[in-house]
Amino acid sequence: MLSKTALTGRLKQIRFVVADVDGVLTDGGIYMDNFGHESKRFSVQDGMGLAMARLGGLQVAFLSARESKSVNQRAKECGVSLVMQGKKQKAPAFAELCLQAKVEPTATLYMGDDLLDLPVFAKTGLAVAVANAVPEVKKAAHYITGLAGGQGAVREVMERVLRAQGSWSKVISQILGHHAEKS
Ligand SMILES: [Mg+2]
Repeated sequence: MLSKTALTGRLKQIRFVVADVDGVLTDGGIYMDNFGHESKRFSVQDGMGLAMARLGGLQVAFLSARESKSVNQRAKECGVSLVMQGKKQKAPAFAELCLQAKVEPTATLYMGDDLLDLPVFAKTGLAVAVANAVPEVKKAAHYITGLAGGQGAVREVMERVLRAQGSWSKVISQILGHHAEKS
């Protein structure tokens, strides 16, 4: 864990947020029917957090070891264009995402919950474990969220980043302004 001052310093430098999917954007549960069709439960507040991140000038990506159509669907809905799935070796996939986003790993924030996320924790500028992460991941994290995956953890982190960067209020005004224009 970083001290509050060190954490704020790193939050200010973040340009690119990469989130693991299962256990971070979801509670880790997977609904599977008799035909093998699966679905996941996402948080609408996380979705707003991701929209706010983009308004605040941050790039966002999803990186998953598993593969599911619902993830592409959710990414599309949240305006997330960078998605990598089926990547059990997450460090090289993360490096590729950084190249695509044209951002140095030091300016990235990565959110994870399980062992496969640890190799990325070693590369990212700010390693964030969700409240429901396994002990090994919490131990390696710079910061541990108060909220759990699928329960607003992503929103919590987006707020931290935007507040540290001084753009939280501006982004809220933008969102409310957009709504006001539509009404
Ligand atoms: Mg996970």
